[in-house]
Amino acid sequence: MSTRTLTMPGSTDQFVITERPTSTRTRKYRPLPEGMTLELAVPMLAEDVTAGDVVTGAFFPSDSGIRRLSHIEECYAAAPVRFGVAGACTRCDECADYPVEEGFEHRAYNIIRLAVSEDREPCALYDKGDVVAVIPAAVAAQFPALGTVPPEPELFTVDGTDYGPYEALPIDMWWHAYGKISVTRDTAAQIATDLVTRDAGCGLTAEWKGDWLVFTWDERYRDEAGRQIIEPDADGRYLVGGLWPWMEYEAPEENAV
Ligand SMILES: [Zn+2]
Repeated sequence: MSTRTLTMPGSTDQFVITERPTSTRTRKYRPLPEGMTLELAVPMLAEDVTAGDVVTGAFFPSDSGIRRLSHIEECYAAAPVRFGVAGACTRCDECADYPVEEGFEHRAYNIIRLAVSEDREPCALYDKGDVVAVIPAAVAAQFPALGTVPPEPELFTVDGTDYGPYEALPIDMWWHAYGKISVTRDTAAQIATDLVTRDAGCGLTAEWKGDWLVFTWDERYRDEAGRQIIEPDADGRYLVGGLWPWMEYEAPEENAV
């Protein structure tokens, strides 16, 4: 598609809708379902968004009056609620900015929550006057659901090294460096090979026993020797982690920007 410039009733600003970016190694723009494109998107006040509208990004104000679409990595079908303190969830950073105070549980903010926090994303909160780009629900309904497109993989390396990067399924908001990442058998094999060849002598080693990936360590690696057996899950993937810190990979060229 080409870039389109649109207007919106009640505003003199111009809203520039650019093509949805392709993913980079660190910014994962999950593609829209087959046939659903930003040709179908329009600017809309957050307070006018209705259930099922597909939100694809926001237009932040600019002095020039020309607002370019800021794309979000995960588009979502809106489930809007007027956000008072009582609407805050207890688990995401966005809602933490709107604390519940004794006696003020029903205080209304000028905030619309367009989506509630899920495993991988915090709540989507907008001021009611913010402008978002949406594909209206009735239009979006003509295409497959957003969830039918698999998420973009994420890349990890071992903290402090240049190993990998290893491709894994996306992690959730609560993931930490000693958490597990879900990788294919091929990637698990690469992780094991890198450990055995590049970290030889560290006291931790890995070997395959049939379908099992077995990590074994001695007193050089931890106070007490031990073993971790990883069996493939129902999808044949391996959850690897806990014995060293992972780090989300950033490509050098992106660091330089
Ligand atoms: Zn929240």
